[in-house]
Amino acid sequence: MDYDLLIRGGTVVSSQDMAKADVAISGGQIVAVGALVGSAREVIDASGMFVMPGGVDTHVHLAQPSRGPEMCDDFGTGSASAAAGGTTTVVCFAWQGKGESLAEVVKDYHQRARQSMVDYAFHLTITDATPAVLDQELPSLVEEGNRSIKVFMTYDGVRLDDAAVIRVLAAARRNKALVCVHAEHHDLISWMGEQLVAAGLTAPKYHPWGKPMIAEREAVNRIVALAEALDVPIQVFHVSGKQSAEEIARAQARGLKVWGETCVHYLTLVAEDLDKPGFEGAKLVFGPPARTKADQEALWDYMRRGIIEVISSDHAPTRYDDPKGKKFAGEDGPFTQIPNGIPGLAARLPVLFTEGVTKGRIDPPTFVRLVSTNPAKLVGLHPKKGAIAPGSDADVVVWDPKKTVTLTNAVMHHGGDYTPYEGYQATGYPIRVLVRGVTVFDDGKVVGKAGHGKYLARAPYEKITPLGRFPTPFNPVDRKIV
Ligand SMILES: [Zn+2]
Repeated sequence: MDYDLLIRGGTVVSSQDMAKADVAISGGQIVAVGALVGSAREVIDASGMFVMPGGVDTHVHLAQPSRGPEMCDDFGTGSASAAAGGTTTVVCFAWQGKGESLAEVVKDYHQRARQSMVDYAFHLTITDATPAVLDQELPSLVEEGNRSIKVFMTYDGVRLDDAAVIRVLAAARRNKALVCVHAEHHDLISWMGEQLVAAGLTAPKYHPWGKPMIAEREAVNRIVALAEALDVPIQVFHVSGKQSAEEIARAQARGLKVWGETCVHYLTLVAEDLDKPGFEGAKLVFGPPARTKADQEALWDYMRRGIIEVISSDHAPTRYDDPKGKKFAGEDGPFTQIPNGIPGLAARLPVLFTEGVTKGRIDPPTFVRLVSTNPAKLVGLHPKKGAIAPGSDADVVVWDPKKTVTLTNAVMHHGGDYTPYEGYQATGYPIRVLVRGVTVFDDGKVVGKAGHGKYLARAPYEKITPLGRFPTPFNPVDRKIV
């Protein structure tokens, strides 16, 4: 036999173009792409199908320990859901609680991740930026391959004030790590929430009123300024609409290494969607919140122009009908106490393909760039991930661009009791999904084995090399004149 596996007759969609080609796989890697002859242990007939690199989802919350509401996906159910939606790599959050050692958190998180069936890497979430964490723990954790740090500018108990954000940015630059940011003006949205609750406006539908776009725009502007002052590459997470995207565009026009991510839910849901009977709107509570149709059109435009270049799920699942989930404060509790976050891992590719490619907003290579190649590049995993090319891992999705599936909670294969996309008609769906040549999803069934997934250590990479450009002749991070 010449190959382990041969995918024949499909249209290979890369980040640049699409063309009919066969794909040969041996030893878990892609070994040849083109018009191939030769024998294989297994041949997949992909005529009429797209053959694409597996999805890379760089914003996925799984198995995070919590003192409050409980996350309903561990790496078992979470990676099954990833596989069921054509995602073969996830980047998850090793999340430091206040007072905790980040090194201990990472050690524990490695244990939790061992049951994954898809490959994974870690962001380091820092909620307590002590000298012990930044100076003693961080250098070796980054060196081990955890080359991204997550900070929150809002949420009680996890947010960093500006002074702490600055210290983290400096530490990231010293250690060659990317900083990913949740940007909203904490004091403004806290105060807004208090006023709404005091006025008796407590239902889930008021959640977007409590987190107006201004609060996000201001924080994006502020984090960009801080990153520019310290010369640190950053990614702004979940850019929810036009005004924040404009801040990203302005930063890029100044030549800064500032990248923006948006999520499928900002392209499909609007604030009014939370206006549902009873407590149902809680199913759509996430922060920053859903915005307007005009914001969605702006995001599509920024995506086509390559300014917003990554689409993630921000999968952050809690159950709906559960006192440890969305009903944490009861159905009469105010929206300010509803846990933020929705499930979205399995829905990401099918919904984006439907809204983007099927409806004619983007072409298939742009789709591949947004969900696979660009996220892989930004976190330092390309070309091992995010490419159909000799030498890349054989993470492959055989995708039927015509297949129609009605999304339900069951087809999400996750641990939760709802999907925000219940009843959504997706056109374009994964038929078969491979992680390093091994099938993890086949014709509607998750067939991957727990533990097949591997941890991906990330080496320093060009994309996050600082520019070497400061506002004055003084480099404040290394305390020297440049
Ligand atoms: Zn998140």
